[in-house]
Amino acid sequence: MKIHENKRENLNQLKSDCSKCSGLCCVALFFSTIDGFPENKNAGNPCSKLQNNYRCKIHDELEKRNMKGCIGYDCFGAGQHVTQCIYKKETWQTLKEQSKEIFDVFIIIYQLYQIRYFLEEAKIVIPAKNLRNDIENLIDENKVLCNFTPDKIQHINIDNYRNKANLILKKVCDSITKSFNNSTSKQLTEFMGRTFKKRDMSGLDLSVKLLIATNFEGCIFNGTIFLGADTRDTNFSNADLSEAVFLTQGQINSAKGSRNTKLPKHLDYPVTWK
Ligand code: SF4
Repeated sequence: MKIHENKRENLNQLKSDCSKCSGLCCVALFFSTIDGFPENKNAGNPCSKLQNNYRCKIHDELEKRNMKGCIGYDCFGAGQHVTQCIYKKETWQTLKEQSKEIFDVFIIIYQLYQIRYFLEEAKIVIPAKNLRNDIENLIDENKVLCNFTPDKIQHINIDNYRNKANLILKKVCDSITKSFNNSTSKQLTEFMGRTFKKRDMSGLDLSVKLLIATNFEGCIFNGTIFLGADTRDTNFSNADLSEAVFLTQGQINSAKGSRNTKLPKHLDYPVTWK
């Protein structure tokens, strides 16, 4: 069953481009070694591996060093929007006295971009056609919010906006699962560490499921929903994810796979997938 109206070209505008950012995610966020980052650090402190040119000193070794937090993080393009559009190429280093404000703005814009990513995909989901007007209104509101001044961005009620988006996304998920009749897979509730080789997982809602180290080798994921699922070390080798729903680059980067894995056209193969 065809789930998306097109190849999701609209999601290409929400790809992160680190060359147009100032390493915001490596500075603005709190992170810890337990979550797969190189060190424990507070929000607002630069990671010790971040160089003055905003490039990661160990970028080519992240996989080898098991930096799963770094590998799995994706800002959906929020970093370049903050750097290029809001602060006109000024950075937390050139505007030192405003650095806290820049980090606070980044954290809000990141959340808006993440929500916009899911709404942009929801907009072209065929079973959710009847929700299109509501989805487009939320996307328009999102774009307006992202173009506020820094002062106004810091006063955005992000919870209010997220709640509205979540209501719509839930309806989109329901419309997809209803259009499938995968009764066997619907009974599945536990996935972590289990093996489901060559199973048809189509139409299954895996939203926020723990899929850590689950073996999905050779499975089909037509209309399978991955909203917020934890895919660390999930094995997607030879699987067909081309019509998976709400799958992100960060989830793919965290997972295992092969060049025979079929990905949605807007997602890239991690360099580690042979
Ligand atoms: S190790 Fe590199 S990618 Fe990870 S937080 Fe530090 S600078 Fe960023």
